[in-house]
Amino acid sequence: MRRFRRLRATPAMRKMVRETRLSAADMIYPIFVEEGEGLTAPVESMPTVYRYSIDRLEEILPQIAESGIAGLLIFGVPKHKDEFATEAYCDEGVTQQAIRYIKKNYPELIVIADVCLCEYTNHGHCGVICGEKILNDETLPLLSKMAVSMAKAGADIIAPSDMMDGRVAAIRAALDENGYIDVPIMSYSAKFASGYYSPFRDAADSAPSFGDRKTYQMDPANRREALREIADDIEEGADMVMVKPALPYLDILREARDMTDLPLAAYNVSGEFSMVKAAAKLGWIDEKRIVMENMTAIKRAGADIIITYHALDAAKWLREDD
Ligand SMILES: [Zn+2]
Repeated sequence: MRRFRRLRATPAMRKMVRETRLSAADMIYPIFVEEGEGLTAPVESMPTVYRYSIDRLEEILPQIAESGIAGLLIFGVPKHKDEFATEAYCDEGVTQQAIRYIKKNYPELIVIADVCLCEYTNHGHCGVICGEKILNDETLPLLSKMAVSMAKAGADIIAPSDMMDGRVAAIRAALDENGYIDVPIMSYSAKFASGYYSPFRDAADSAPSFGDRKTYQMDPANRREALREIADDIEEGADMVMVKPALPYLDILREARDMTDLPLAAYNVSGEFSMVKAAAKLGWIDEKRIVMENMTAIKRAGADIIITYHALDAAKWLREDD
């Protein structure tokens, strides 16, 4: 008889034949940096997540540096928001200042700059608007300026998350023209219009003031289109591609893995995180087991890099179990 249980008999045996291993080295922790001073503002819908002012970043950066994770994904929350998202590409903007601070004090951490206008526009949409229409081509020059400004501040990777068509090519050209030929692009290629983003919108103060994002983010029902989006971004020059959210889209991650040899990232988003936190708080689940199982599932599906708010906890648990 075929006895599968022979290889499950002891922890050592199970560890030896394990097919998927987690590592802190391929995890990225997202952080929110708010303009102002003396701010460590808890994000109500995301327990353990805070918005920090630059002078308070020392409350979190040493933990990130010591955790062994690869680095962080930075989201800025400016005071001033306007129709054209001017703070997004102002070299003295809060995000640019934060990047300079982090790269100066923690040069070993990889800093990924999210490039999108929604945290910087007064209407909360990811592009320039005309009436209630979100304009595609008019948005590209602003995203390009933002990407250059982030690279100038010292960002190691530029990560466009807006879902405008043609943005990877536009950003690549702008980076190259300005001398940032060595700065890679991690594109949010298959980003779905998801209900799982709502806690993030509290955190980044970026909820749209009208309508929704369904004219630019993807329909959750579409698998083939996701693969076309990914193929297109690769053709436009993306160095890495991403699927977002992660857990409800593991099939997309697997197909993306089979389609491309480029590094593949998965964004385990705010809603995925908050559901685990809420159930754990109620005592309904074992948080550590669920988080590690979720991370393993994302990796097993094909992700090389996991962007997650669980990164610091996961890194700690990985150290403890080693
Ligand atoms: Zn956006």
